[in-house]
Amino acid sequence: MSNQIEIKNLNVSIADKPILKDFSLELPRGEVHALMGPNGTGKSTLAKVIAGHEDYEVESGEILVDGTNILGMEPDEIGRLGVFLAFQYPMEIPGVTIANFIRAALQARQEEGENFDAPAYYRELYDKMDLLKMDRKFTSRSINEGFSGGEKKRCEILQMAMLNPTYGIMDETDSGLDIDALKIVSNGVNLMRNENRGILVITHYQRLLDYIIPDKVHVMWDGKIVKTGDKELAKELEAKGYNWVKNELAVA
Ligand code: ADP
Ligand code: MG
Repeated sequence: MSNQIEIKNLNVSIADKPILKDFSLELPRGEVHALMGPNGTGKSTLAKVIAGHEDYEVESGEILVDGTNILGMEPDEIGRLGVFLAFQYPMEIPGVTIANFIRAALQARQEEGENFDAPAYYRELYDKMDLLKMDRKFTSRSINEGFSGGEKKRCEILQMAMLNPTYGIMDETDSGLDIDALKIVSNGVNLMRNENRGILVITHYQRLLDYIIPDKVHVMWDGKIVKTGDKELAKELEAKGYNWVKNELAVA
């Protein structure tokens, strides 16, 4: 099946330390999956490797996006294949407004010689902002500069909505997200959810999954997925804690 992100037996290390260990996952279009796991298990590493981050050494395995192997590709090539990554810690870009940043990202994806329809762009930008209940003044602010946690999340969701990716990967902050920011993220993900798009929500806490009902929940431990289930698995995790998974593994 090729309408999916397919990760097969991925082994990744940083500075000779193995982080992802035989990690496998399939994310089909049309589904929302949650990837959960304690701090330090390699969740953000996975997100960055999918996005083509250069710090990580991929020793073996494959990442196929709709059948195309993306390992070794540049981040912008992977983006053009329809993969969007919302970072756990978004960077600040002083002097670059949100409107210009998103516009540059869209223009970079145009064919050579194609004209950019600025009025149509601003119409769409404002429509999406209305949908996400964002103040229009927001577009003239510099990217993430002095933004609250919630504003950064809104900004990421807006980028995702405008870039309209086939696959969205949301690496959530494990702390510091208040209930409002959680609602922004979940509302955005729920609005983006459709049969042609696959979304991977990476989170440490079950809380987010009170608002986003995932099709599948994967629990990661020590660099790989050790349990997969439905939303009930997230509830079980919240009740029993990650040690429950660890103890089960020890018994098995
Ligand atoms: P998670 O997102 O699940 O909390 P990470 O992927 O951020 O986990 O980290 C997995 C492991 O890799 C941790 O032990 C972390 O210390 C290590 N790590 C992550 N990034 C780097 C880096 N740039 N240099 C060295 N070690 C790193
Ligand atoms: Mg992380």
